[in-house]
Amino acid sequence: MPRIAYVNGRYVAHAEASVHIEDRGYQFADGVYEVCEVARGFIVDMPRHLARLNRSLTELSIDWPITRGVLPLVMGEVVRRNHVVDGLVYVQVTRGVASREFFFPPAGTKPSLVVTAKKADPAAAAKRAESGIRVITVPENRWDRVDIKSVGLLPNVLAKQKAKEAGAQEAWFVDVDGTVKEGGSSNAWIITRDGVLVTRPAEHGILRGITRTTLFDVAAKLGLKIEERGFSVAEAKAAREVFISSATTIAMPVVAIDGAPVANGHPGSITVSLRRAFFDVAEKSPA
Ligand code: PMP
Repeated sequence: MPRIAYVNGRYVAHAEASVHIEDRGYQFADGVYEVCEVARGFIVDMPRHLARLNRSLTELSIDWPITRGVLPLVMGEVVRRNHVVDGLVYVQVTRGVASREFFFPPAGTKPSLVVTAKKADPAAAAKRAESGIRVITVPENRWDRVDIKSVGLLPNVLAKQKAKEAGAQEAWFVDVDGTVKEGGSSNAWIITRDGVLVTRPAEHGILRGITRTTLFDVAAKLGLKIEERGFSVAEAKAAREVFISSATTIAMPVVAIDGAPVANGHPGSITVSLRRAFFDVAEKSPA
């Protein structure tokens, strides 16, 4: 079954899908993106993802490439054309194609829009969650505006590659003050001995994860308390449970930090219950 991509108004064969060599996303990482989970044929938390996309575009003064109301239709169409029941849908918007100048391109330059979808195996994800993942820590070396979901992800690429080479699946950026900021592609959480969920405030210095936001709703439903505050690597290592969150991992248990086991080295029960309840609480848009 050939994959189909949406590129600037056309549905094309994925293998041949391309953008211009002077697309500003390609030349300057001058663009933003969203990744939504697709689960059981539904796009998960689509309105929140669209709201964050709108914020990212606004912060960078990039216009919507198509009207906001039409994008969900394109996303649904790409999901359907690729027969994705479980997986993800990826949306990327760049400032468009223009002669290579640092200044913004002339008014009227159309932003580029690419939408793709990919299948994932829910059984494999469930298995990963049963064993948990390992994280390493790296010094924060990203720019100050990581609240914008920019395609400029080189520090994240390097950090995650370092994690992979260390036998881990995620790298946590650690601030100069010793607190954990977030992962290369996920938010970071701990659960204290008293069963309180702790995650860093999202006003500054991290991406406000959509999964993070929905987990606040899940926690409320389960009667769990959340504290938004920074935590150190040492506090995480001594925590009752540790997990990461993202659209593609949901709540994923962390069982080791820099090689040291978290608690008994097995996924914790609260993380498992958050993961189980997530889909029921999240907003589901039929693809
Ligand atoms: N932080 C970073 C740096 C990320 O790349 C991601 C994944 N997009 C997240 C957090 C989690 O965000 P979300 O829950 O919206 O996937």
